[in-house]
Amino acid sequence: MDIGEYMALCLGHPEYGYYMTRDPFGAGGDFTTAPEISQLFGEMIGVWAADMWIKMGSPPSFVLLECGPGRGTLMADILRATGHVPGFHEAAEICLLEMSPTLRNAQVRQLGRYAVTHIDDISQVKAGVPVILVANEFLDALPIRQIEHKNGKWWERKIGLSDTGGLEVGISDAENLILETVPAAILREKNDGIFETSPYLNQFLKFVDNLLIKQSGAALFADYGHVRSAMGETLQAVRAHKFESVFENPGENDVTAHVDFENIARIAKGDGVVCHGPVTQRSFLRELGIEVRAERLLRDAEMSQSDSIRIGLERLIDTKHMGSLFKVICLCSDPQLTPEGFNESL
Ligand code: SAH
Repeated sequence: MDIGEYMALCLGHPEYGYYMTRDPFGAGGDFTTAPEISQLFGEMIGVWAADMWIKMGSPPSFVLLECGPGRGTLMADILRATGHVPGFHEAAEICLLEMSPTLRNAQVRQLGRYAVTHIDDISQVKAGVPVILVANEFLDALPIRQIEHKNGKWWERKIGLSDTGGLEVGISDAENLILETVPAAILREKNDGIFETSPYLNQFLKFVDNLLIKQSGAALFADYGHVRSAMGETLQAVRAHKFESVFENPGENDVTAHVDFENIARIAKGDGVVCHGPVTQRSFLRELGIEVRAERLLRDAEMSQSDSIRIGLERLIDTKHMGSLFKVICLCSDPQLTPEGFNESL
């Protein structure tokens, strides 16, 4: 099978898939994400979303969509931060795209005070109203495929069983269909090595772009990844905060790949959607006022909380931590809309 099929099974197999039966987040789990590190992250995304809604003319009804909400922490922080924005909560229909039954339960528990709708697929978003979409560390979980240039030819990496019953990587001819998803410059340069491409992610983004065009609105994606499309292998597996082999213990570790932000921009351009960024997470959060908010929290905090506020802030924006590896990108249907947070040029 191709690497994408394998990755989809590792994460989403109904019985054995990594996300399907567990809550992997937090210090005692396998990995930690920005909303789990500090409430400041979700609060800034809330400020961004409320500002966007006001710039869109405060529509009386809109879908507030989160893709891959994990424990529901980001959405809870967004809703708390926007509680005082007149009309925002009344207008928002909260919709969560989530494949894991376990995490859906966690989200319902976390968001108990609010009415939420779960969907399995982006095509199920309510029609006819504007959409504000947010997603943190969602795109990195979408299955990628790997093509490889060697001996003057493009191949695709595939996974099969070895003679001893383990998993083994082999290659087969790369089909035209997969080569069509690779940027022309990469194909032209013909450098030896691996290139990661994701027909699944491309299709998802095309759907988002068309949704924004049809219903108007904006989408914000935060994730780790690179600003330019480039050769290289980034597929990784993490368990208990440590890297593992992607091909051992399938379903027991979090398999992800770095996001190619240039690819997101390229698809947006083709679809006629305006793309802002990518910018670093550091720059985005600072422009939205994360330091001012942290100062405010510190003023009221007890000694014991102050350290965790400071450490949380540092982990989110310091370049040694998530500040520069993580990027934020925004897609907008309307060229007149200028989202906050995108002044950095990378
Ligand atoms: N946004 C959260 C969780 C990130 S982990 C946070 O920042 O903490 C990835 C999330 O996406 C999980 O909730 C996982 O179950 C969900 N997910 C992954 N692939 C998905 C898919 N193909 N369809 C729907 N949800 C998916």
